[in-house]
Amino acid sequence: MDLNKFTIKQAQEKLEAGEITSVDLTRACLERIGAIDDRIKACLTVCENEAICAAKEADLRRKNGEIGALLGIPYLAKDNIMTRGVRTTASSKILENYIAPYDATIIKKLKSAGAVLLGKTNLDEFAHGASTENSAFGPSHNPWDLSRVPGGSSGGSAAAVAADMCLFALGTDTGGSIRCPASFCGISGCKPTYGLASRFGLIAMTSSTDVPGPLTKTVEDAEIVLRVIAGVDGNDATTVDAHRDRSRPVHAADVQTTMTGKKIGIPKEYFGEGLEAGVKKLVMEAVEYYKKQGAEIIDVSLPHSKYGVGVYYIITPSELSSNLARHDGIRYGFSDNSGNDLLSIYKNSRGKGFGPEAKRRIMLGTYALSAGYFDAYYLKAQRVRTIIKNELDQVLEKVDCIITPTSPHVAFKIGEQSNDPLKMYLEDVYVTGASLAGLPAMSIPVGFDNGLPVGMQLIGKRFAEDTLFAMGRAYQDGTDFHKRRAEIL
Ligand code: GLN
Repeated sequence: MDLNKFTIKQAQEKLEAGEITSVDLTRACLERIGAIDDRIKACLTVCENEAICAAKEADLRRKNGEIGALLGIPYLAKDNIMTRGVRTTASSKILENYIAPYDATIIKKLKSAGAVLLGKTNLDEFAHGASTENSAFGPSHNPWDLSRVPGGSSGGSAAAVAADMCLFALGTDTGGSIRCPASFCGISGCKPTYGLASRFGLIAMTSSTDVPGPLTKTVEDAEIVLRVIAGVDGNDATTVDAHRDRSRPVHAADVQTTMTGKKIGIPKEYFGEGLEAGVKKLVMEAVEYYKKQGAEIIDVSLPHSKYGVGVYYIITPSELSSNLARHDGIRYGFSDNSGNDLLSIYKNSRGKGFGPEAKRRIMLGTYALSAGYFDAYYLKAQRVRTIIKNELDQVLEKVDCIITPTSPHVAFKIGEQSNDPLKMYLEDVYVTGASLAGLPAMSIPVGFDNGLPVGMQLIGKRFAEDTLFAMGRAYQDGTDFHKRRAEIL
């Protein structure tokens, strides 16, 4: 088997047995990127030399007796995650030539674990979107059908994993950006509980919902990565020490995957109008699988989930309009100083540097936060957000997890929806709830509709990632959708 096709777990075993080296693995991934990325366009930057150096060092560490779940494992990181000395653009013209001066905490953790950074992946500009079409550098392509989007905003990361360019990738999820592309590309993606993994060094979008997380070939791999990147960080006051035992090594036998006694909630609001029949059928088949394994299926209701998208698209633009204020043409990146006063530097730099979606959101957010409208929009949205959160918490007192489709449909064609922002916002109909409530959620592949992958979403209790992983593994133990690979034509 080509080494780049390995899961983390498989590669780990081969590395430990001394059958392969990290340099072999890294070369295989770099070759794969070289061979197909002109068609997928997942990567914005490939750091070939640095990767080979890091792989050599990992091999040396292993030779000196070190072992570790990610030692020598090559990965890609979404380009809104700071990587010291490596270009970090957030897919924006305003940061086109920006070299990150420090590593994000999660990158630091991966470095000390010995993981090998191969490069940076495409996203919607500043993570605003669900398709990568908002990238200033053009869209990525879905490996299952190159004329379709890979989902977004972590679409480059998802496409790269699905096309075996790396063993895993990092993404960020603010309102679905790990789960949506995982679903469209047929891979596993985990958005952890808000506060489980540090946001320090992520280029901020919506500070109250941003979380980094893994995109992987299996649920087992997602767990391996999350254990390394999770943990309290003095540089992010919202991190929580919820899993003190996260440093322990992961072994397959470690986790109970029996479904007997597990309770799964099926919210009727997530299976109604707007959901494609083919997607519904496959998600219900997965639910049926759990039932056969002994889980109890319980009908639940989340009546306020219909306000999720509305609330999200007030809160998100509000927070990001404030976060993007720092890109002023003075402190970072692109600067147009052709005018002769400070205001014109701001105006020209931001006017030329930001793309249309970032501008749209800055205007929406500035409006919602402005005196006279703050109470009517932002404050009201925060109140409804609390209702949505309480409602989810109450349902999760009765069940171990909630299952929904990740997206109402399969990957759409590039260009099909890009001129209709409202339609793009509605893409997030099933994913905003867990983000607004800060709950952990995962997308895993449950089959194919007309040859295109379909994902189901599992939403868990706060900091109960272990339950989601156990449920995901139980499903992947008995199915092979996660093993299928696209033939890239
Ligand atoms: N589709 C969401 C948006 O456009 C996804 C954002 C995200 O999770 N980064 O806001």
